[in-house]
Amino acid sequence: MKIIAELHTHSNEFCDHASSSIDEEVEIAKKLGFKYFATTNHGPMSDYGTPVTFYLSNRERRYDGITFLAGIEGDMRDLKGGMDLAEVDLLSLDFVIISLHNDVLETKYPDYTEGLMNVIANPAVDCIGHIGRDQDFHLDLEKVISCVKENDKLIEFNSWSLSGYGKYDSCSHVMDLCEEYGVKCIVTSDAHDADRIGSHQPVLRMLEEKNFPEELVINADETRMADFLKRRRSEKDAALRSLFNE
Ligand SMILES: [Zn+2]
Ligand SMILES: [Zn+2]
Repeated sequence: MKIIAELHTHSNEFCDHASSSIDEEVEIAKKLGFKYFATTNHGPMSDYGTPVTFYLSNRERRYDGITFLAGIEGDMRDLKGGMDLAEVDLLSLDFVIISLHNDVLETKYPDYTEGLMNVIANPAVDCIGHIGRDQDFHLDLEKVISCVKENDKLIEFNSWSLSGYGKYDSCSHVMDLCEEYGVKCIVTSDAHDADRIGSHQPVLRMLEEKNFPEELVINADETRMADFLKRRRSEKDAALRSLFNE
């Protein structure tokens, strides 16, 4: 399986959370043969957030030889599924991952399932980030995964969850549920510096061990990737129009 889109990356623009610039990371991504690159800095409510204008100004960025996606790794910020960027702004971005992080959302509540299901159903959201890593937030994973299926969104398999956090059992469980429910997914590096661009091996190894169906991995095929982005853009545009008509 060959990954053709690098979809979860952090840069050092306006923050010191990562150590490379977008330009440096895109350069490496191009050298490694990626067809797509998404920049996904943490959302504005995170301790590592950047100014709102940063996410929006990325919409104008272009690079030769690779399709650049203006994205965000935003946060669910409350139990109702509120997020940390206005819906109208999220809808205008190319790739929106929403994750759970304890610098934005407290971990003391008994259940986060309903909030996350509201996030998944939100037309601005493309992908749910690293839920295999998030045992501090109690989730009914079967409900979450089947909700992702119902809304035709994506689950992220994050390589850093395996190499940095060592969450093998829970990530393996998420993967098994994705296969069982036929949920589309992506493989990501969660790179915080240019050297980690393309570091997908831990996830690819696990997928191979499981003989995971490749057709579910959206960023392992250019047509699947293009089709997904095209459908999502038209859904986001429709949601934007209805926001303005309200
Ligand atoms: Zn994260
Ligand atoms: Zn991240």
